[in-house]
Amino acid sequence: MAKTMAVNAGSSSLKFQLLEMPAEQVLAQGLIERIGMDDAIVTIKYDAKAMNQGGRLDDQLVDDSNITISKDGQTRKYETVLPIKDHQQAINFMLQKLTDLGIIVDFNEITGVGHRVVAGGEWFNHSVKVTKAVLEKIDRLADYAPLHNPANAMGIRAFQKLLPDAVSVAVFDTSFYQTMPEENYLYAIPYQYYTRYGARKYGAHGTSHRYVANRAADMLRQPLKDLKVITMHLGAGDSITAVKDGKALDTSMGFTPLVGVAMATRSGDVDTSLIYYIQEREGLTNDQMLNILNKKSGLLGLSTISSDMRDLLAVYDTNDHARLAIKVFVNRIVKYVGQYIAEMGGVDALVFTAGIGENSAPIRQMIADKLAYFGVALDEAANQKRGEEIDISAKDARVKTLVIPTNEELMIARDVELFK
Ligand code: ADP
Repeated sequence: MAKTMAVNAGSSSLKFQLLEMPAEQVLAQGLIERIGMDDAIVTIKYDAKAMNQGGRLDDQLVDDSNITISKDGQTRKYETVLPIKDHQQAINFMLQKLTDLGIIVDFNEITGVGHRVVAGGEWFNHSVKVTKAVLEKIDRLADYAPLHNPANAMGIRAFQKLLPDAVSVAVFDTSFYQTMPEENYLYAIPYQYYTRYGARKYGAHGTSHRYVANRAADMLRQPLKDLKVITMHLGAGDSITAVKDGKALDTSMGFTPLVGVAMATRSGDVDTSLIYYIQEREGLTNDQMLNILNKKSGLLGLSTISSDMRDLLAVYDTNDHARLAIKVFVNRIVKYVGQYIAEMGGVDALVFTAGIGENSAPIRQMIADKLAYFGVALDEAANQKRGEEIDISAKDARVKTLVIPTNEELMIARDVELFK
């Protein structure tokens, strides 16, 4: 059987999903955290149905005290804490555990591995099979994503060692945005900085936006190339993307994921001069200032209480700062959507996705209310639903509003199929 692993390797963590392809059935998913520590944590969740694929019997596993079984007996969770020195060891342990748990018989069943890679620069406008030259480019692009690309490359190398026969595919967060026209990706700064350093907008969350834009077209039963769609990925990181003629036309994130709308802890757009003004007065180094803009701003910075939208909504009526943070959050999104409607000359569908987009009816309602002029209107009852693909637009709305749970792992696995 052909199984595909979708991998998201961070500097000290590794997220994975194992899927049966092309059936798109999720067999197992998991997370290894604190790689490099003596108390690394490995979690693997899997469906009871996925077991015995390896021909093992349930009762061989029953007395494994690391496994908890859900009340309905359908889902199981394996969890353990152990020393893991590096990504190679982490992946080795994970594959061995998938075998022990009866999810795979031997490693060779995994015929493809898709890797999330954060920065693809201008080199990659679609997913590619990993070759030596591709890996070298991913290494060289570390300048654009110093925390991510080296970890992504480490994940690729580690899997290649253990699964040398599996097809290895790199799926870039930025490739979806390589279709943007230069008037949208260039900053109005001296042109030589673009040619010398690649100083331009690259965008982020591309795999998520690509997935939900395509699902939106499926839901509306029209080819994506005939639709004008605005996708809103609202999670801890937030970005808005305009999709026209089946391609990304513009997006709110930039050279890095720091700009655009206000996020959980990232500032989004700020007047650059103000940054120097604050730095000077507070005596902050560049790194300290960047840390404040990345980790202490956004919802957290404005509300002073939390970066989590649920906490802020809970005190919306009683806490002025929480309300202010939410208003800024909503308003920034509305401004980007309005801008993209103008840029595309209209809009057929808006899509909400990620933690806030998928789960928060009040935030969706606030955004929709402010876009009423464009013909956006929600069906109140439909908007209360959660966690499923749903059309939440009112009957007479001129613009469709959809909620589509994102699925980057599935998008990665589908891309791997193209190279098998
Ligand atoms: P990430 O961007 O890290 O992948 P998620 O997409 O999981 O994050 O989104 C995390 C955010 O989603 C958090 O800020 C959390 O508050 C928010 N969120 C999750 N559920 C809800 C909810 N029911 N209402 C409002 N916000 C929610």
